[in-house]
Amino acid sequence: MLVLSRLARTPFGILLWFGLFLQSVDASPHKKLLVLGIDGCRPDALLKCRAPNLRALAENGTYTWYALSRPPTKSGPCYSSIFTGVWNDKHGVTDNSFINQRFDRYPMLFSRLKDADPAFYSGWFVYWPNLYTDMPHGADVSSGGWSDKATQDWAVDLLKNGNPDALFVQLGAIDAAGHDSGFDPDNSEYLDAIEEVDGRVGTVMSALKARPGFADEGWMIIALSDHGGFSTHHGGSTVEEMRTFFIVSGDGVPHREIGHDWVQKTCIVPPYGIRLDGKDDCIRIPDASQYHFGSDQDFTVEFFMRTSESSGRFVISGNKDMSDGKNPGFAFVRTSEGTWMLNLADGTNEKEISGPYVADDRWHHIAVVFKRQGTLSLFQDGIRTGALDISDIGNIDTPYGITVGQDGPEEYPYFASESVSELRVWKTAIADSVIWAWLFTPVTDSHPNCADLVGYWKMNDGSGGILRDYSAYANHGILVGGDTVWVAPDERVETLRFDSCRTAKTVDLAVTALAHFGLENEPNWDLDGKNLVSGQNPAAVHYSRLSSDPSLSLKNFPNPFNGQTLICFSMPAQGRATMEIFDVLGRRIACLLDQLLPAGDHQLVFSGEGLSSGVYILNLSTPTARLSTKILLMK
Ligand SMILES: [Zn+2]
Repeated sequence: MLVLSRLARTPFGILLWFGLFLQSVDASPHKKLLVLGIDGCRPDALLKCRAPNLRALAENGTYTWYALSRPPTKSGPCYSSIFTGVWNDKHGVTDNSFINQRFDRYPMLFSRLKDADPAFYSGWFVYWPNLYTDMPHGADVSSGGWSDKATQDWAVDLLKNGNPDALFVQLGAIDAAGHDSGFDPDNSEYLDAIEEVDGRVGTVMSALKARPGFADEGWMIIALSDHGGFSTHHGGSTVEEMRTFFIVSGDGVPHREIGHDWVQKTCIVPPYGIRLDGKDDCIRIPDASQYHFGSDQDFTVEFFMRTSESSGRFVISGNKDMSDGKNPGFAFVRTSEGTWMLNLADGTNEKEISGPYVADDRWHHIAVVFKRQGTLSLFQDGIRTGALDISDIGNIDTPYGITVGQDGPEEYPYFASESVSELRVWKTAIADSVIWAWLFTPVTDSHPNCADLVGYWKMNDGSGGILRDYSAYANHGILVGGDTVWVAPDERVETLRFDSCRTAKTVDLAVTALAHFGLENEPNWDLDGKNLVSGQNPAAVHYSRLSSDPSLSLKNFPNPFNGQTLICFSMPAQGRATMEIFDVLGRRIACLLDQLLPAGDHQLVFSGEGLSSGVYILNLSTPTARLSTKILLMK
């Protein structure tokens, strides 16, 4: 019980304490939490360092060097995910400005804990001041100011002289070294910074262990990085930027390495495209009624792009006059920070949302799905990176057709310096799973949405000034500028399926910490994380969420199976799903899944390893329904 155990610490509570003492209300132990935010620390670099203090936490706890953080891999979005327990498409933070934030709907961890117990007392000490000036962190004492030494001292002071229930300490020297000289396991300056920060972790841990009541205080210590880095930046969708570590230690947390299942996909970008020179090149696709989406028509735009230009601004593609952002239409814009953003307006209302870093001179797949009565969703390399309510945006029609490298009237002050290929426009909202499945594959008749393709410029023409439209509309594009270069990218792009439940992710922190304080994850909190300390079942080797479908269903294939079988099921509504396997005598063989799931399609891989051949019964239970199916293992 969180609430009663704290009463003794308030002046009024002292009276209650004596009054209730004989009833032994404080039988449940106190719980406390220390979160160490090791900013911008790549696990592969950490493992090259001595770092005895962080290693000791891992050696005594549940840990993984293969956790993931979702793009945009910047501190604003990443710490928002860590402390709300939901991703950017819910908390709304997709850059370091915190605009579009939804902390009212998805409160931060310390706020939730204080809600549950008004006497909950916490400290928040950070290197990056915006984490305490711009975030509703809910802590009672907070400071920040570009100094790890000061941050460490504030934390030590509170641990020595105060009685905090929870403490967040963010250390920034590793991130600063990465920006200066490279986020790189072979960069000695970066490694030195890791060892320096590890020393500060040691100082804070010593102060913690020196507390007179330490042994009985039930401290859980969580150390993690908010993101990694690549070259001298982060913010993008490369594995180097998304990979983090996650250590949960103390308070009886078992020693265990958390498995991971990244479902990596390495593909070759379709080997064609066109490079716009940044001086006078652009692509003009004539106006046509199939791009007039009005006020209600859902649509999707996808393309590949590559740019090394990280300064200035240019229009990647769009259909609007960008002399005023409020003008009707949509535009993909490469911002002066090397990220991209999407602008959508109807002449009166305007919406803008940031995407990840893109100016790393690698090919990236970009997609935006416009659900006109709901949300607009951003994707980079198949990973959903943000969402924004656009239900108040009306008619977006323009007379400009679609341009690439310029705005609609071709009067934007800067031309785009970028390579592009595979521009696809659809008059439907493409499902996440379809975007993922067709990421690197040119569209064919077997694409589930091929009837909704209203424009498809592969940019594989190779010569001349006309870009063929491969859709049924044959509305060919025109090259403007004249000296464009045809390119033949033969580049491998490595990306990850994000939704595997076996992989630890930064959003797991909030759920793991709430469970430590005895707070059950409530369905209406709509959290994306899971508790990393409670067991994960090894029988299900991979679980992932797919798209939406309104009915409960359950099937597997292959069936019969030998080795592994893919189990697919659909949830009509959000709820706790339990999946168990029984033998024909009704004995439970394994629990494959027991967790809160969103509505939609889900899948997991079941391994028959260790089981003998025969019939097994697969049961799926939700709060409202129960389904069974027979599966046959043949070895
Ligand atoms: Zn940084």
